[in-house]
Amino acid sequence: MPAQTPTEAYEALIQFLYQAPIGLAQTSLDGSIEMANPMSAQLLMPVSPDGSLDNLFDVLADVAPHLRGMVEAFAPSSGVVCESMRIPLQPDGRGQAAPQMLSFNLLKMGPHRLMAVLSDVTREVQREQQGLARRLSAAARMDNLTRMPKREVALERLQRAMEREPGEPGYAFGILFLNCDRLTQINNAQGHAAGDEVLSMLADRLRATLRSRSRLGQPHGGEQMAARIGGDEFVVVLDDLDHPDDIHVVAQRLLDALAKPYGIGSQQLHCSVSIGIVLRAQTSGDANAVLQSASIAMVEAKRAGGGRYVVFEPAMHSRAAQRSGIEAELRVALVEGQLFVVYQPVVGLMGPDRTDDSVDRSAGVEALVRWQHPTRGVVPPFEFIGVAEECGLICALGDFVLATACRQFVQWQALLGARAPRLLAVNLSRAQLAQPDWVDYVAELLHSIGMNPAQLQLEVTESLAAQDETVQTCLHALKALGLTLALDDFGTGYSSLASLHQLPVDIVKIDRSFVCKADTSHHHRVLIEATVRVAHSLGMGTVAEGIETEAQAAVVRALQCEKGQGYLFSRPLVADDLVRWINAPH
Ligand code: C2E
Ligand code: MG
Ligand code: MG
Repeated sequence: MPAQTPTEAYEALIQFLYQAPIGLAQTSLDGSIEMANPMSAQLLMPVSPDGSLDNLFDVLADVAPHLRGMVEAFAPSSGVVCESMRIPLQPDGRGQAAPQMLSFNLLKMGPHRLMAVLSDVTREVQREQQGLARRLSAAARMDNLTRMPKREVALERLQRAMEREPGEPGYAFGILFLNCDRLTQINNAQGHAAGDEVLSMLADRLRATLRSRSRLGQPHGGEQMAARIGGDEFVVVLDDLDHPDDIHVVAQRLLDALAKPYGIGSQQLHCSVSIGIVLRAQTSGDANAVLQSASIAMVEAKRAGGGRYVVFEPAMHSRAAQRSGIEAELRVALVEGQLFVVYQPVVGLMGPDRTDDSVDRSAGVEALVRWQHPTRGVVPPFEFIGVAEECGLICALGDFVLATACRQFVQWQALLGARAPRLLAVNLSRAQLAQPDWVDYVAELLHSIGMNPAQLQLEVTESLAAQDETVQTCLHALKALGLTLALDDFGTGYSSLASLHQLPVDIVKIDRSFVCKADTSHHHRVLIEATVRVAHSLGMGTVAEGIETEAQAAVVRALQCEKGQGYLFSRPLVADDLVRWINAPH
């Protein structure tokens, strides 16, 4: 830099202060402005209530009314009165999204002088706000519990995948829609904290399974993402399906990994998942529609027993629509009393004086639900029990049947005396057991209507009786009330005679599919015989279901089965008809 004369140096300093992009103002202690550079004038002028720049405190009175007091309270003869104070340039922001903002520093420069340093930080504040907004919206897109993206993110990702053209990388995508099979039960039995822990561990396993897939060298850097899209629902988008069959491998790995027990505290909880799969070829509509198709396939997986995957097919759509129609009508049916109960006699086949064809008509009855549909007439249970189980209506339905049948049973005792049915069988669904305090409800019901628990028999299927510990505990609690449990439809499930001893049941009901061939198939006769023998050796009783002919009755009687049920004796009857049937001469 060439040497400057003092005048030149002074001029340069003035220029420097004059052009500085920062506002500088010197004032007396009462705020009177003694000197101000153009930038400070430019920054302060818009705020000045009367357009003058005489006194700094007056200029800022509206936006920083406390300045004067701060200076008066500042005792030292020099120092920083305030630093980086943010002052909005409009008193109330005037409804602007990003108000102009000043950064204001006030220094005491001696006993009589103040120096104000001002700068415009509007842009900086805007940037800060944008950053905050971004962080907030990122948080809104992320699930806290599982640290997974939420539904919206999954939909965006899916939409992008759907927009790819054939031949583009990632064109052949597939999605898996996962739903936990037993989270409601876990929440009810173990509390929501345990449920949350299971979900968080499940999410970790989900990520780990997908990561191990990436490590196994998936081609062309394709992507996969997992999101939590609802309480117990997750979705996985796979962008890199070289072959559609790959998705089966992924689905099976996920089923295996997620079905392993979850160690929560001292407990081992089980929570398998059901998976619905949609492949590129089956996609239509937008991302929401694809997700819906996947959830329909997931429901099919659940209907098939859960813990498995099902690939979506278009026909599932109409089945789902049909089911949701039934669900809506069934809700009305429950409220409007369209459901009623019929009773099928269960007859005694054996006994000291029963070597002939006569049977004991008072051995018992099974309560079976019917639906008096306003336009379709009487609808049989197979058309709606499954739907009711899926949508949770089974609890209201099952409890209605139980209460109605128990009341009816007590009335028969009064009406028929010694000839009244001695046992009432009622079918039980799994969801009923999962209701909190359901065992207490049953105890209270029986007590209030004066029915002896020993006369009630609840019928469960093999898949229910073989359930986990929570269900087992519940079944044992029911037995502790004094009632009995029967294993319904034996032979159609997956458990075998060898595992019969593990189930907490008192009676085995041999399924109609065996009984109907009792007289024509040697194989079926042998199976019935084996079932009766094993049941007896375990101290269990037996009932043959679906006896339609005398020949079938003769065979099951010869095989020592104590009771029978079937059209040969009677179809299910409304209560009054049952009384007539019992009283009919025979
Ligand atoms: P289930 O408990 O095994 O009941 C026996 C079914 O076999 C009844 O059908 C009965 O009508 C039928 N059946 C009895 N004898 C014969 C026969 O000789 N030949 C033929 N072909 N069929 C016979 P239904 O009433 O249609 O009930 C079907 C199933 O629906 C029941 O099977 C049970 O699993 C379920 N269900 C009925 N009512 C209820 C209920 O209140 N709650 C629950 N959870 N399930 C119910
Ligand atoms: Mg039954
Ligand atoms: Mg049955």
